[in-house]
Amino acid sequence: MKEFDVVVIGGGPAGYVAAIRAGQLGLKTALVDAYIGKEGKPSLGGTCLNAGCIPSKALLDSSEHYDRIRHKYAAHGINAKDVELDVGRMIARKDQIVKTLTQGVAGLLKKNKVTWLPGYGRLELGRQVSVTPHDADGDPERIKAGHIIIATGSVPRELPAIAVDHERVVDSTSALNFNEVPRRLGVIGAGVIGLELGSVWSRLGAEVVVLEALDDFLPVTDPEIAQAALKEFKRQGLAIHLGARVQSAEVDDQVVKLTYEDDNGTHDLEIDQLVVAVGRKPHTDGLNAEEVALLIDESGYIHVDAHCRTNIPDIYAIGDVVRGPMLAHKGSEEGVMVAERIAGLSSEVNYDTIPWVIYTWPEIAWVGQTESALKQAGREVRSGSFPLRASGRAVAMDETVGMVKVIADAASDEILGVHIFGAAASEMIAEAVVAMEYRASAEDLACIVHAHPTVSEAVHEAALAVHGRAIHI
Ligand code: FAD
Ligand code: NAD
Repeated sequence: MKEFDVVVIGGGPAGYVAAIRAGQLGLKTALVDAYIGKEGKPSLGGTCLNAGCIPSKALLDSSEHYDRIRHKYAAHGINAKDVELDVGRMIARKDQIVKTLTQGVAGLLKKNKVTWLPGYGRLELGRQVSVTPHDADGDPERIKAGHIIIATGSVPRELPAIAVDHERVVDSTSALNFNEVPRRLGVIGAGVIGLELGSVWSRLGAEVVVLEALDDFLPVTDPEIAQAALKEFKRQGLAIHLGARVQSAEVDDQVVKLTYEDDNGTHDLEIDQLVVAVGRKPHTDGLNAEEVALLIDESGYIHVDAHCRTNIPDIYAIGDVVRGPMLAHKGSEEGVMVAERIAGLSSEVNYDTIPWVIYTWPEIAWVGQTESALKQAGREVRSGSFPLRASGRAVAMDETVGMVKVIADAASDEILGVHIFGAAASEMIAEAVVAMEYRASAEDLACIVHAHPTVSEAVHEAALAVHGRAIHI
């Protein structure tokens, strides 16, 4: 039986990063991954690279170009006539990006001497893993592990009343692969996926209706920013209905007939395609958790402590399959921490400074807590905001929608949260993460020189505004 110091089950951004770091640290490492890519072959990178972060951002970028050329370039004096959309080419470009990056992961594993074992991993007693190859005729191979890292990720949550057929009623993976623009697209869930993929197809010309069960829009974000974003997305043409409880959706002669209820009564909606984007759930099917007595909590997550240790010695779990936000970078950092702890180092993940980004346009990004959550917790805070309409660079770019908000402790001035709605928010948030990681004060941020003209000056101004000292507003 082959023996490894570390066996990682799952090759997404949590698992493959853990495997690479373990390889760098000189640990003999194997990575077992079950993912089959669009071409029908094993493909590393998990949900993120194959059907998540990367392909969605490729389509968001393409659709942004299309939207700009149609609606924004004329103001710059650029008149583009007869603009044509080639959806097939757009999807092929996205697929090529996925191929390049997933093959890149294979190269990184090789470089770090990690053995890639395509197939389904199952925990066995005595710290063993059996690997069932994709080829149905192949026998499972048993391997022995000093340490096991489970990184089996997550899968879309389904609604009991709505059957996903992957044609008319689809999940996020199929919504990245439509071969034409649906005339009328329904989306259930105004969360991250609903807004990102709703934006893609809306920019490309679909009439998009988003049905959200909650009365609040994006309750995880700062309420002021959520309200500004809701207004802007509606202006862009996304018909977002809050407090909408979907009762049923049936496919009838190529049309999805949907019924939902809100405070005004029951409504019928006919659409050509429906995306169900109501969250994701941890994936532990087929892991054999019960037989090896691996503790899974009541929500289906593998139970872990702050260092991602499960209830079984030398077995760890990381990424979407454990508590915390379902974000690629959160899983990757857990992967690094666990690999380093196995190698005897004392690494940690700071869960308080994990940034979030929603890649709509403008983008929404934040780190730390919202003002309302802090106030509810009884914290005395001060906040400062700066609107992008007062940023010279944002005006020059014609990207004046949005704002930056900095929230600090009223007594110590330590930054407790930074919330951005605006162009390039995904890049600007990094500065706030660094500041919070070093426990900077709003005054510290206000003392840092920011290049002019940049949109990031708005972060500087919002930090100044915490003490009523913003210059340009
Ligand atoms: P996964 O990426 O899900 O990988 C798990 C891997 O394990 C898969 O390859 C799976 O096949 C494999 N596996 C499962 N069980 C077994 C088994 N028993 N044996 C072998 N292999 C197994 N996050 C961001 O941070 N930024 C984004 O912009 C972003 N965009 C997203 C867009 C979409 C449309 C979606 C769906 C998700 C997005 N996410 C984004 C979330 C991100 O994809 C996940 O947080 C991330 O992929 C989780 O990484 P993971 O390694 O834990 O799991
Ligand atoms: P989500 O939790 O962000 O949003 C799901 C939404 O669906 C919520 O607003 C919820 O209230 C709503 N909902 C739930 N049940 C409903 C129902 N029956 N009817 C109507 N609405 C309902 O989940 P998601 O958008 O599916 O994304 C899953 C996860 O993937 C995210 O939480 C995130 O962790 C990750 N993700 C991240 C990014 C990013 O970082 N940019 C992008 C996409 C996905």
